[in-house]
Amino acid sequence: MLSPCSPPMTQSERPLPPGSTIGILGGGQLGRMLALAAARLGMKTHIYCPDPQSPAFDVTPLKTVAAYDDEGALALFANDVDVITYEFENVPLATAEFLARLKPLRPGATALGVAQDRLAEKAFLTINRIPVAPFAMIGTSESLAAELKEIGLPAVLKTTRLGYDGKGQRIIRKRAAAAAAFAELAPKPLVLEGFIPFEKEISVVVARGVGGDTAAFEPAENVHRDHILKTSTVPARITGRTAARAIDIAARIATALDYVGVLGVEFFVLKGGKLLVNEIAPRVHNSGHWTEAVCVTDQFEQHIRAVCGWLLGDPTRLADVVMENRSGDEIGAIPARLGPGARPQAYGKAESRAGRKMGHINRIGAKTPAK
Ligand code: AMP
Repeated sequence: MLSPCSPPMTQSERPLPPGSTIGILGGGQLGRMLALAAARLGMKTHIYCPDPQSPAFDVTPLKTVAAYDDEGALALFANDVDVITYEFENVPLATAEFLARLKPLRPGATALGVAQDRLAEKAFLTINRIPVAPFAMIGTSESLAAELKEIGLPAVLKTTRLGYDGKGQRIIRKRAAAAAAFAELAPKPLVLEGFIPFEKEISVVVARGVGGDTAAFEPAENVHRDHILKTSTVPARITGRTAARAIDIAARIATALDYVGVLGVEFFVLKGGKLLVNEIAPRVHNSGHWTEAVCVTDQFEQHIRAVCGWLLGDPTRLADVVMENRSGDEIGAIPARLGPGARPQAYGKAESRAGRKMGHINRIGAKTPAK
């Protein structure tokens, strides 16, 4: 029931009934797991992706294989769905804006624009008083030399766009290596960050509903290998105070973005518990895959509920858990790596390549990652 001071519900805020169709931009494993969660709620999904081999196409009959700038295909797609979401942040902004004029786009194009550009993201976080690593925009190798004096060594030089899993970044340990790092990375401008001697990395997956309510999962403690997430362990070995602050920051970011859906926020935890936000991801997140094994509502259902205007689900965790990513040829070893408490997911990707995420195993009840 509406409370006396709630604004009246608009047509697009009304909960979508089961049987409605959710359009998903992107056909990777996140789109696949979103489609599976949607099916459990009686929702249909229509996946739009230029790659005909997309793993999400295996789990829904409704698909469009077309380029992200094909306005004719986008218009037909929008016509076929009730709401549109995305499973990766590199959907071109023009595509998102085009679709948002035709159907509700959740999360909106603003969140996408902020999250797909590291400089815009850091500026947005700083304006909203969210702590980040010291940073500077780098347009020339002269500005890099000058900013290295300010920020100090070591430092990390990153592309502003299209960087993920450590792609598009170089650690600069010596001044003499700066010019080569600048020349290697493109497109310009770049962003220079202070190298943070963190104690650990954590992340919070938070959801925000159409009415502005938020619900966060507990922070996960993340270990990366070669810049790719290897394990997420929950509970994280942090104090209750640090956990509460991380959740508060994640919810503040979601609110500042007027966000609808699930948002991933990655943090560096410094000695003494100080938190810096490393980056945000406007989508379900790899470090939230543990939720599907041990939470009352998992991140995929939560995202579907949010974008459909449903009440958010209960994020309570029911058991300890470790999520292990399986990349490249490790996928073949999944059957041999199961045991009590193990829940596997394989993403159905046709081709395995070194570093390509192929699946994961959730180990329910595990306290530390398996070797
Ligand atoms: P990113 O693509 O920015 O999320 O970076 C991938 C990983 O590189 C992070 O999860 C960290 O382990 C490491 N990293 C990135 N930026 C920094 C930084 N400024 N200081 C220390 N480590 C970093």
